[in-house]
Amino acid sequence: MARKMPSKPAPLGLDEVRDFVNTVNLEREDALVGPDVLPEWLGATGLLPGASPQQLAELRRFREALRKALEANAGDGDAQAAWRALEPFGRECCLKVEIRDSGPVLRAEGTGEDAVIGSLLARAYEAVATGTWSRLKACRKPSCRWAYYDRSKNGSGAWCSMAVCGNRMKANRRRQKSRVSEP
Ligand SMILES: [Zn+2]
Repeated sequence: MARKMPSKPAPLGLDEVRDFVNTVNLEREDALVGPDVLPEWLGATGLLPGASPQQLAELRRFREALRKALEANAGDGDAQAAWRALEPFGRECCLKVEIRDSGPVLRAEGTGEDAVIGSLLARAYEAVATGTWSRLKACRKPSCRWAYYDRSKNGSGAWCSMAVCGNRMKANRRRQKSRVSEP
């Protein structure tokens, strides 16, 4: 699917969070869930090459918990519940503050899946602190849920692609409305 290629970079490492969530394409229109490229992504980013099946299972649980938080950012679901679901993942990882020439940076310590989770939660932490987190969203179309960075002026974007998911959802709503107003 051409539109589901990585889009313009998101700020401050959020592209990494977005790309992690997008390692599976959940679009079910053709009754097929897209291939799950999490192992390839972990290898390409160098975060965890050669992950074991158990590590992949844990990271997939984390990925879907993270997606819930991005859905809440798009106005779909409860943000507090989404954070609570992420809480056990945060407890397992270890972060330290690394001082660089440009200033302090949060870095995940250790190895394995906890280091991957820590690294992604560190990016989320920075984004919450800088106010960019609320713009990292998961598409509100129930069958899509693709992660994207909302660059709309007022941050009210709800779909990964207005041209595809947005128009389809609007057409559905119009149909429902006209059905309701029929005598
Ligand atoms: Zn979408």
